[in-house]
Amino acid sequence: MTEMISWCGLLCNECPAFIATHTNDDLLREKTAKKWSKMFGFELAAEDVNCDGCQSGSDRLIGHCQTCAIRKCGMEKQVKNCAHCNDYGCQTLENFIQYIPHAKKKLEQIRADILSG
Ligand code: SF4
Ligand code: SF4
Repeated sequence: MTEMISWCGLLCNECPAFIATHTNDDLLREKTAKKWSKMFGFELAAEDVNCDGCQSGSDRLIGHCQTCAIRKCGMEKQVKNCAHCNDYGCQTLENFIQYIPHAKKKLEQIRADILSG
């Protein structure tokens, strides 16, 4: 599948919520709900594990992505993702990706590609 890169550098197509939604996999929904409830300290129900990806234009998004400030900002600025933004490295982005090194790495890779022309 083609990479679906979110504004923050996460790959939506590799996210278990996206995969469970698009393969309609209830076992994966349950497993993901258990794992994330433990990891993030809130109760996520299996039936709420549904997401179309944050750049899909759909309102069906998982958890934090429903209210994400990065997504909102990226849409307002009409940038492909944060790597393409003139304000790359802003506090809104940094506050989030400091905890997600693989997302930061993805954005850095895109930046390097843009800068190398
Ligand atoms: S909604 Fe925000 S946190 Fe979720 S994938 Fe999109 S940019 Fe990242
Ligand atoms: S200002 Fe920050 S959060 Fe907004 S699009 Fe640019 S890098 Fe992303």
